[in-house]
Amino acid sequence: MTTLQAPASFTQENPWEMAREQLRRVASLIDIGENMLNVLLECKKAVEVSVPVRMDDGSVLVYDAFRVTHNVARGPSKGGIRYHPAVTLEETKALAMWMTWKCALMGLPFGGAKGGVVCDPKSLSQLELERLTRRYTTEIINQIGPEVDIPAPDVGTSPQVMAWIFDTYSMNKGYSVLGVVTGKPLHVGGSLGREEATGRGAGFCVREALRKRGHELAGARVAIQGFGNVGANLAFLLEEAGGTIVALSDSTGGIYNPAGVSVEAAKAHKREHRTFEDFAEADAITNAELLALDCDVLAPCALEQVITGDNATEVKASIVCEGANGPTTLEADEILHDRGILVLPDVLANAGGVVVSYFEWVQGLQEYFWKLDEVNAKLNDIITRAFEETWRMHVEREISMRQAAYALAVGRVSEATVTRGLYP
Ligand code: GLU
Repeated sequence: MTTLQAPASFTQENPWEMAREQLRRVASLIDIGENMLNVLLECKKAVEVSVPVRMDDGSVLVYDAFRVTHNVARGPSKGGIRYHPAVTLEETKALAMWMTWKCALMGLPFGGAKGGVVCDPKSLSQLELERLTRRYTTEIINQIGPEVDIPAPDVGTSPQVMAWIFDTYSMNKGYSVLGVVTGKPLHVGGSLGREEATGRGAGFCVREALRKRGHELAGARVAIQGFGNVGANLAFLLEEAGGTIVALSDSTGGIYNPAGVSVEAAKAHKREHRTFEDFAEADAITNAELLALDCDVLAPCALEQVITGDNATEVKASIVCEGANGPTTLEADEILHDRGILVLPDVLANAGGVVVSYFEWVQGLQEYFWKLDEVNAKLNDIITRAFEETWRMHVEREISMRQAAYALAVGRVSEATVTRGLYP
């Protein structure tokens, strides 16, 4: 039996320390008091489990895995599950804290959580992935549930993975429990519009930000890093709205054409060759070069800490839309702010996913499913309202959009905590 060791993390800053420092800075702005700050600086619960999996060749590998709940003051905890070789407990804790703020900013009745399995899903067969998912679900089965903690997809997980979680939990209960997980495939209780929701929400934020600066989506030049669920859907939606997608990338590299890349053609090329390499209608660029391109909107939609103190001075976009969680380090954040670049923070820009997850949870509990137009219109309402609230605070208090979003979110969680009172 082999236990897999996690490779060194790709992040420069400890993400948990970064998340806590962001909270401390906001706490000083809104004066929540030291007692409240001490509560919010910690995670309510963090479990670490080992997940033994029989591989197709008969050997057994043991994977390290986590599920963390940061806060439940506003409702059951909510957040995705990440399958990635560089997942750590500290990263999972940071992501759980960000989920608390994201749900509060959107006004959803949820706290924040996150899960992670240290694995490379691309190297696993379908059967290995299924066994891994079912065993991980079993190991955390007492932590999750429709009233307790509701997982969803994140980097490296898919609707199929959510279906296995739903099935494993339901088999153990003896009946189907639709509300235990969101991001499920449509035919087993998923919601219309969930798959595109994170990209769609990011698109709404870009539209609102451009409007504030007197521009429209039509004609905006956009560079997108990452072509997973968020990046790919955002690219399609912005192209459809008349934007010019000047660059795209995946983990192996990117493509650039100042006149615009056809997202459909790029997707077809990637489907066939598994990479953007040798795509005829654009030049090859690196992920680092993509961040420094001349464009109106830069959307980092892959992993954390790609915009750092080293490259923030090179960003030429006037708007940065954080499709990924935590793509900008604290140092980079200050540099971008000082340079007048409008950063749409992750807790606002990528919240579309959890908003439609909320819709899916409600539909599952009621066993009554909505039309796509209804889902998208309600998503637009929630994102646009949150954008407007954040913008107002950003202007009135002369603080960054991130600080404004955090101030609103942390204020709401504090208010709920005070109103409920400390037990016992
Ligand atoms: N993983 C997504 C996020 O970071 C979605 C979470 C959810 O739908 O619960 O927001």
